[in-house]
Amino acid sequence: MSNAALPKDGSCDLRLRCATTVEGLAVTIDIAEGRVAALRPPDEPLPPAQDEIDLRGALVLPGLSDSHVHLDKCMLGLAWRPHRAQGSVRAIIADEKAFRRAERVSLAEQGAEALLDRMLHSGTTSLRTHVDIDDVTQLDHLAQILELRARWSDRMQIQIVAFPQSGILSCAPVAGYLDDAMRMGADLVGGLDPVGIDGDRDGPLDIVFTLAERHGRGIDIHLHDGGELGLDEIDAIVMRTKASGLGGLVTISHAFALAEADDLRLGRIAEALCEAGVTLVSSVPGGRRCPPIPRLRELGVAVCFGTDNVRDCWNPSTVISMVDRTTLAAYRFDLRSDADLTALLDPITTVPARVAGLGPGALAPGARADLIVFDATCGPQVIVERQEPVLVLVKGTVAIDRRGRAAG
Ligand SMILES: [Zn+2]
Repeated sequence: MSNAALPKDGSCDLRLRCATTVEGLAVTIDIAEGRVAALRPPDEPLPPAQDEIDLRGALVLPGLSDSHVHLDKCMLGLAWRPHRAQGSVRAIIADEKAFRRAERVSLAEQGAEALLDRMLHSGTTSLRTHVDIDDVTQLDHLAQILELRARWSDRMQIQIVAFPQSGILSCAPVAGYLDDAMRMGADLVGGLDPVGIDGDRDGPLDIVFTLAERHGRGIDIHLHDGGELGLDEIDAIVMRTKASGLGGLVTISHAFALAEADDLRLGRIAEALCEAGVTLVSSVPGGRRCPPIPRLRELGVAVCFGTDNVRDCWNPSTVISMVDRTTLAAYRFDLRSDADLTALLDPITTVPARVAGLGPGALAPGARADLIVFDATCGPQVIVERQEPVLVLVKGTVAIDRRGRAAG
């Protein structure tokens, strides 16, 4: 137990009594000025608290992080639209552009606000969203998502990736827009299948890494390209990360090609990813494209989870909760032991906090008091029961409270 962040007079704004940590410890949690001020053993004498909640042994986790979402694509605010585009990434891009030209409501109304609300209710308190930048949207989506981020700043920590959804070389104005996007307030430079979309492995990567270095920002590249082509692109991103000194700031999202690598090749790539400081993000997709997440964990690779598409032109899926995402991973990889299930919390808590500054990551003195409470005794129970939190605190303030409903 530590009281490192406790205010000098020992007081706190909110005290959570009788909490259980993911390690199984019974603790009293003191919160002051939006942060965890102290974790105390249950029998420790307590200084005054302005307010108290008795959790009656409930499990407390740090707020969950969604490392890959598309707030601007979501259509939760609109009537059901059947999935139309078949096959290739290019076909879906064309379908999405047709949708955008026809739709005239704001992104908040289209679904971004509904999605944020559902995410918060499911325990997500931090996220990284990609925002489309192409010849149709130009910088309009970015401007709208920046406004939404400001409006939600007390409820959700949001990182923004300037995402070239139609490619960079094959969509002429995009390189300039990406540069502008960094000045407007985007946090990271995005990328998309250099060969699959732009037909050139090095040209788009040159532009992405140059922009990141120029603006001192990180990179997050969508990589759907499979097979040898995709593996070669991963090698190229690793080499550029080392050469540019951007280690720790580069993410590859999806990396479907890793599902096709044999164990020897996977081991070599994993070593290179670790050495270069490149993170992977997976939505734990169905089909044959999911990278071998437990094996990558064994090999030491930093893996985060994200929802990716929610009711949009890419996928009608409405799996929003990060707890549900861990359930998908448990099912997909047939994980059953408490140790294996508990490890699935890392890609939505500790890893995104460490590699991306997303979320508090852990329940610890000094950490931002984004805390979620479950009617459970341990993490595995939350995952296999696909639980929703009964209480969500953001910066020490109660944002969602289902306790009355649970008791009734
Ligand atoms: Zn995506």
